[in-house]
Amino acid sequence: METAENNYCPIIDHTSLRFVAVLVAAGKGTRAEGDLPKQYRSFLGDPVFIRSIPAFYNHDQNVGVVIVHPSGDSDRIKQYLQASGFIDDERIVLTEGGKNRTDSVKKGIEQSKSFNANSVLVHDAARPGLRLEDVTSLLKELERYEGAAPGLPVTDSLKHQSEQGIRSVSRENLYRIQTPQAFRAEVIYDLVEDIKESATDEFTLAEQAKRLVTLTGGHERLSKLTYPDDFKNLESILSNSETRVGLGYDVHAFENGDNVTLCGVDIPHIAKLKGHSDADVAWHALTDAILGAISAGDIGDHFPPSDPQWKGAPSSVFLTEAKRLVRDQKGEIINVDITLICEAPKVNPHRTAMIRSTAEVLGIDASRVSIKATTTERLGFEGRREGIAAQAVANIRLFSRQSDETA
Ligand code: MG
Repeated sequence: METAENNYCPIIDHTSLRFVAVLVAAGKGTRAEGDLPKQYRSFLGDPVFIRSIPAFYNHDQNVGVVIVHPSGDSDRIKQYLQASGFIDDERIVLTEGGKNRTDSVKKGIEQSKSFNANSVLVHDAARPGLRLEDVTSLLKELERYEGAAPGLPVTDSLKHQSEQGIRSVSRENLYRIQTPQAFRAEVIYDLVEDIKESATDEFTLAEQAKRLVTLTGGHERLSKLTYPDDFKNLESILSNSETRVGLGYDVHAFENGDNVTLCGVDIPHIAKLKGHSDADVAWHALTDAILGAISAGDIGDHFPPSDPQWKGAPSSVFLTEAKRLVRDQKGEIINVDITLICEAPKVNPHRTAMIRSTAEVLGIDASRVSIKATTTERLGFEGRREGIAAQAVANIRLFSRQSDETA
């Protein structure tokens, strides 16, 4: 969703981004009832606000976390942090909130300037389902955009009711906007200068200021805790998941050439792999593994080799589609493991690059990608250097699909 037609936004490498997270936990949470303000209530065994901290704090590119809390609560916050193992850390800074959300966010963003980060993520503490991968996806979008937020397609039927009666509203192209909302630092600092009391969220401000903004895929688990029932619903989404495993296998033969593509990485070799697409045997096996885990057929069903549009296609297209199908089923990839079987080329020198490119296409952390290689002791077609085989396993978590029933 690009809102600025003529806006120029210089492209930057997302790995050069250092971010500060502003965790907004200053509300009274009156609609959630209960004895405690909702950010302190227990959620799967932790105070709600604590659950989001590791996704920021444990991210390689994080330089600081600003916790915006209700006035007078700094000791309470410190106690919770200590109980969760965050002790006297200069990367975690507390700041008192203001009289409303806008005011609190403004204070948090002001405080974040002390970290000199080049990007800022603003997150509602009442969304405890945050994961490290969500942060990575947002930072990736800041490569080309000034701001990004998770957006979840609306699946319920929508009605507009007024004095004129009830009419249907198309849900096509409609999204629920979640947090964290990520911005290049200079952009959010600029926007906050003239922030109005009534601003709903920072992404809306950026959009209204015609900044170049986009949406990443949202998640049910990023839903906000607002009403009493939300606690048990979100707990059940996060804990009622089922784990699926899929297996993939592929072979491509060598033909005349000087380069093979494995996991999106070009590797010089005395031959190339024969195939309709870029013949990336590793990503083909991985695509099949992911499709297998969600019982969605195989790569040939989705991308028939007879279809000329896939001729020479980069296999990232297939993998991206498999990832999209997982998300469609309200799932996410936990980890993948690929084994390449060949005598040559040597895979090891390229392994880090292959892990990085696979993690990037799947939108998961590199620690969730494993790539290995083996020979067959010169036995079989791999041993005779006639081609390369690849095996892959994908481990996928499908979250509770209650919302399907109401769609
Ligand atoms: Mg293939």
